[in-house]
Amino acid sequence: MQNKFVIPGDFIGTSEEFIAGSGTYEEKGSIFAAITGNVKINPREREVIVSPRTNVPPIPKVGDVVVGRIVDLKNSVALVEIARIKGREDREIVNTDEGAIHISNVKSSYVNELGREFAVHDIVKAKVIDTRTMRLSTADKQLGVVKALCTRCRSPLKRKENSSTLICTKCERVENRKISEDYGLGII
Ligand code: ZN
Repeated sequence: MQNKFVIPGDFIGTSEEFIAGSGTYEEKGSIFAAITGNVKINPREREVIVSPRTNVPPIPKVGDVVVGRIVDLKNSVALVEIARIKGREDREIVNTDEGAIHISNVKSSYVNELGREFAVHDIVKAKVIDTRTMRLSTADKQLGVVKALCTRCRSPLKRKENSSTLICTKCERVENRKISEDYGLGII
């Protein structure tokens, strides 16, 4: 089992043989891999871990453009579940980092109300401006919401020509977002 390559859900051993360490989980006395990697057993402590494959998941750097989903809106901060890093689409981010867009980083002009710029479930493109607290910015033209659904009927919102206003394709509700110039183009 030592060094064996495993994927999530692979059986590694029993809790009688081993202590489940990082990268593993235990269920009804059996230990399984929680991540993709190689099994490492520490014989002294009988601890078994799964060490992530050397092509470690990418970690966003300052200046990287990330794509994610708005998961929560607070008074002054929008929380983004980061799904991937632009230019490194081949690598999945395993431990999803949550980023935060502060109201002062939404656009270059003053934002009074965050709820007029984003809605929960919007897909956004944002730039990493600080990795310690994973702060993101959507102030550039190409950054912002790239996909949004109507908050009333959940149908796709379409961009009104030459404007930042979005209109529902079904119920014609009009909504406002800080949109990316790539809104609706599928270019992410
Ligand atoms: Zn609608």
